[in-house]
Amino acid sequence: MPSPARPAPSTSPAPRGAATSVPSSVVVVGAGLAGARTVAALRELGIDGALTLLGAEGVPPYDRPPLSKELLTRPAPAWLSDDLGIDVGALVDDLRLADPAVRLAPPDGGDRAFAVTTRSGDVVRADAVVLAVGAAPVRPLGWEAASVLHTAADAAALRERVAPGLRLAIVGAGWIGAEIAGVAAGAGADVTVVEAGSTPLERQLGPTVGAHLARWYAPAGARLVTGLPVVEVGPDGVRLADGAHVAADVVLAAVGARPATAWLDGVVPLDARGAVPVDATGAVHDVPGLWALGDCATRDHPVLGPVPGGHWSAALHDPEPTARAILGLDPDGAPPHPPYVFSQQLGHDLALFGNPSPTDEVVLRGDPTGGATGRGAWAAVYVEPGDSTTTHRTDDGTRRAGRAVRRVRAVLLVDSPRDVGAVRRLFTRTPRPELVIEQAVDPTVRWRDLVPAAP
Ligand SMILES: Cc1cc2nc3c(=O)[nH]c(=O)nc-3n(C[C@H](O)[C@H](O)[C@H](O)COP(=O)(O)OP(=O)(O)OC[C@H]3O[C@@H](n4cnc5c(N)ncnc54)[C@H](O)[C@@H]3O)c2cc1C
Repeated sequence: MPSPARPAPSTSPAPRGAATSVPSSVVVVGAGLAGARTVAALRELGIDGALTLLGAEGVPPYDRPPLSKELLTRPAPAWLSDDLGIDVGALVDDLRLADPAVRLAPPDGGDRAFAVTTRSGDVVRADAVVLAVGAAPVRPLGWEAASVLHTAADAAALRERVAPGLRLAIVGAGWIGAEIAGVAAGAGADVTVVEAGSTPLERQLGPTVGAHLARWYAPAGARLVTGLPVVEVGPDGVRLADGAHVAADVVLAAVGARPATAWLDGVVPLDARGAVPVDATGAVHDVPGLWALGDCATRDHPVLGPVPGGHWSAALHDPEPTARAILGLDPDGAPPHPPYVFSQQLGHDLALFGNPSPTDEVVLRGDPTGGATGRGAWAAVYVEPGDSTTTHRTDDGTRRAGRAVRRVRAVLLVDSPRDVGAVRRLFTRTPRPELVIEQAVDPTVRWRDLVPAAP
């Protein structure tokens, strides 16, 4: 769908050639949030070369988080043209929404441009390539009978089935499993969630917090089975490691996603997760002119180190600094956005800032049982182990001994939408803030009044 107003896409070696100079042509691979934001940022920043956008789903970019949270209430995709005003058709010269890249050849001695081969056999050449291919849901071998929820098409298929009385077995009590469990149970489906770990979201949030989340399932109308891996998936349900069978009309595999980078294996360095490691601007190490962002990348953060993709906010915010770097513009000086995940599940709101580590100590702020209503706000503060000092800065800036100061790696806010801004600011100002822990766990001290300790 080339736009008539723009020059034809580059299908021959780009005139400027050298990938280290400002590119005269860019191919963005992946028409999701990160890809759409990249083409928008490149245009806003004044690229005057040809832009190509390759997609795989055959539809314009849309937002994924509503697919689970609003499965039944928002039947049409949340198009980015409506939500963010990004009309990719007007921004790029060559738009191919159903012609994914299948091969990438970096420049070599004879050809100074990248060559991207698409499924239809076309070869698109460009000075720079941005990989924004996102992730693909994991569906273990033998689980062909299970559905997944990753695309608008997956959501449409699941929406068709969810109805009162439907027996739905969800494998995995992660972010998406929990969100769908609440939505489907709310619609009268008979929902069982089977989780191999000892608690929901154990890998992401640790067992202490996970144990509190487990309490949310029964009141929301969903059964939760933990500590039992699924060993077999069939059209009539799932079999668990102890031999029990959970009968189901629909099985949803919600066991995670992996970067959609299999086609890059051997061409681009990939980490153990299958993601493309990049520097803080999104540049792929040792391949000038190649960039990666969003769910398919692991991006260096100046303070936090490598941050794996998988956060909507990274796909939203990282394209701008990457586009600046592609165009050789100075960074705008804004601090990098902290890792941030949000979720609405089983009647609760979650916001996670930072990167919890399994070795962190978890201290709770507020009452995770929710008090009398079961819905009170609380938070979990993830602090680095063995990192305690006994000085802190007082309001007038002087240092005072006697209270424990701990380095905070992450904060999970539960049912506290009004605190999101203050915690975001905390992590933006100092990505690994040091806090007087006594204040941080005291819910009567507002987040915005917490005084970071002096360095
Ligand atoms: C149901 C659901 C709910 C979610 N909820 C939340 C949430 O609440 N909070 C949160 O922080 N995150 C959430 N996420 C994750 C969030 O949506 C992602 O982090 C975000 O979409 C990443 O954007 P992206 O552009 O990197 O990847 P994607 O959105 O996955 O887009 C990548 C696109 O590239 C395409 N593609 C893949 N391979 C190729 C190829 N070879 N050639 C061309 N195109 C290709 C894909 O088909 C896809 O359209 C959710 C994800 C899902 C699936």
